[in-house]
Amino acid sequence: MYSLTEFDNRMFVYEVAGLSQEGLAYPIRNSGTTYINVPLKRMNQEMVRIQRMGGKILSIKPKGADTTTATIKKEAPAPQKKKAKGKIPVNTYRPKNPLVGKCVENTELVGEGGIGTVRHLIFDISGSDLTYVEGQSIGIIPPGKDDKGKPHKLRLYSIGSTRHGDRLDDKTVSLCVRELVYQDPKSGKTIKGVCSSYLCALENGEDVKITGPVGKEMLLPDDEDANIIMMATGTGIAPFRAYLWRMFKEKHEDYKFKGFAWLIFGIPTTPNILYKEELEKLQAEYKDHFRLTYAISREQKNTEGGRMYIQHRVAEHAQELWELIQQPKTHTYICGLKGMEGGIDDALKAAAAKKDVQWSEYRTKMKKEHRWHVETY
Ligand SMILES: Cc1cc2nc3c(=O)[nH]c(=O)nc-3n(C[C@H](O)[C@H](O)[C@H](O)COP(=O)(O)OP(=O)(O)OC[C@H]3O[C@@H](n4cnc5c(N)ncnc54)[C@H](O)[C@@H]3O)c2cc1C
Repeated sequence: MYSLTEFDNRMFVYEVAGLSQEGLAYPIRNSGTTYINVPLKRMNQEMVRIQRMGGKILSIKPKGADTTTATIKKEAPAPQKKKAKGKIPVNTYRPKNPLVGKCVENTELVGEGGIGTVRHLIFDISGSDLTYVEGQSIGIIPPGKDDKGKPHKLRLYSIGSTRHGDRLDDKTVSLCVRELVYQDPKSGKTIKGVCSSYLCALENGEDVKITGPVGKEMLLPDDEDANIIMMATGTGIAPFRAYLWRMFKEKHEDYKFKGFAWLIFGIPTTPNILYKEELEKLQAEYKDHFRLTYAISREQKNTEGGRMYIQHRVAEHAQELWELIQQPKTHTYICGLKGMEGGIDDALKAAAAKKDVQWSEYRTKMKKEHRWHVETY
């Protein structure tokens, strides 16, 4: 990485393609590319801005150097990662030899008046060989020893960012972690989970031991016309955030989502709606392609007057969901609290039965076709 302390007044030149002239302060050359001067301190921000505007950075060079030849591959600050196209990376880092990443962001996701603590964490993985795709998880090894004096075992966490990371520079991985707090049934003492409380309290700059990536259950299909039904409770939103960012927020040469995505999100209170602003912004922007439905258990009532859990929302929309599910291009994903599957099954069973279809058989068929994906914990 470039050192900020030694060279913090250095300038770089980005050669960018794919920007439209409208509203731009820089001239676009005949070749269709633009040169943009960027101070070292703003390199990441500028990268994000350019990519948001649909631009593609072709090269980065120190200002004053010849700007006609180098590509981003030659000049990028981080070493190139081993990337096998089309192959899903698995276990690049194992517990015996974990990657030591760095926490670069740790922010609270639960708003005022909400229940508990859920943090959005970003780890710097630059210079490593860790690559991942949407829907995978990583392992975290908390420091210290367990009550048998052995090093703590790893805990798995769903990755919440796309393969490019939140900063779109392929150098970070993000998690969405709920701090586990419960009363010990015997002693009545308040107990905090080892790894989740460690992660939630991580400070910027602290090291973190990472393993993985793992998981092939929750991968997003390549089909740009697919219907993607997502049912999440709490931190189960993490992989869906990655899907939605890939589908709508980022611009790709090789993946332009044109299908329909429907997120049904179960949470206890409005301040517990994780990533609320970003989700609602996407929904407003992509109305025809993204539907967002909440089940806010402590605020909304189901038809019987009880709390509105995710299965009640699924039951409410069961007919529409059933119609969608029957289309071969529809993939259904369930992620979050263990036990959420049961209620969802019951709701879909009732809709299928109206058409004389046995839901359990139909679900087995969907699983075989890799169209029914579940990750609960
Ligand atoms: C594939 C996968 C993905 C996951 N993704 C995420 C994610 O994105 N975000 C996230 O926050 N978590 C996620 N988890 C859960 C995560 O791995 C940890 O299990 C969780 O953070 C708790 O770990 P801990 O070390 O804090 O708790 P620990 O110290 O390991 O304590 C957990 C233990 O506490 C006990 N316990 C828990 N609750 C109670 C209770 N109410 N009463 C009595 N005993 C209790 C149980 O024995 C339990 O095994 C995921 C798990 C899997 C398998």
